[in-house]
Amino acid sequence: MLALDRLCSAYGRIVALHDVSLAVKTGEIVALVGSNGAGKTTLLRTVSGVQPAASGRILFEGAPIERLEAHVRVARGIAQSPEGRQVFGPLSVADNLALGAYRRRSPHGDTLARVFDLFPVLKEKRHIPAMSLSGGQQQMLAIGRALMAAPKLLLLDEPSLGLAPLLVDQILAAVVRLKAEGMTVLLVEQNASAALAIADRGYVLETGRVVLEGAGAALLADPKVREAYLGL
Ligand code: ATP
Repeated sequence: MLALDRLCSAYGRIVALHDVSLAVKTGEIVALVGSNGAGKTTLLRTVSGVQPAASGRILFEGAPIERLEAHVRVARGIAQSPEGRQVFGPLSVADNLALGAYRRRSPHGDTLARVFDLFPVLKEKRHIPAMSLSGGQQQMLAIGRALMAAPKLLLLDEPSLGLAPLLVDQILAAVVRLKAEGMTVLLVEQNASAALAIADRGYVLETGRVVLEGAGAALLADPKVREAYLGL
């Protein structure tokens, strides 16, 4: 579904991604792990089009998209749940969700029902301002908002950040359920063990380069990954 071919991305003279090549196949959960500043967020932002590619290609369903504007990529089927959630605090949960569907012309009642089925607490709190939600609930809202665009590919940036273990489990269980329902997911996490445990495949990023790739379980068992990212 998604293929990056020698993708480079930079902030002025700071090169954040060097020749990154990776693939996400339809129906997979692919985890991107690596320490702080490795380039994980930059990679997602370059795929969604919020950050321009300096060079290289991004193929989505076989077509190059690296020159397309972000909103066009959303229309093609790519939606991102950003790092730090970035929900609109004063707006209600329902209005935040409606914003995720703003590009769609057709009614989105079915999608809303699916989001509420995945995260029932959002239905309960639909009239409440987003800023009154707990951190975990705001994370659910950020994912729900991305799902409202009815994407084919969901980009998730650090969904477990700052959450208590029980909530991390809940969020990742929702990701697994999305996959079971046919979603394709590119998941960025500093919590490497949790991410690789649910991923079909994973890539390890270090200072903007892919240094390891493999099946989620194989990476979890890899001594280098265990030492560098799992503290084992
Ligand atoms: P984190 O988990 O902290 O978000 P990350 O793996 O997602 O880390 P990025 O945020 O993509 O890493 O950062 C990659 C590199 O790009 C780092 O060296 C970072 O300092 C730099 N960088 C990120 N955003 C900017 C920016 N807006 N301006 C300048 N440099 C940036």
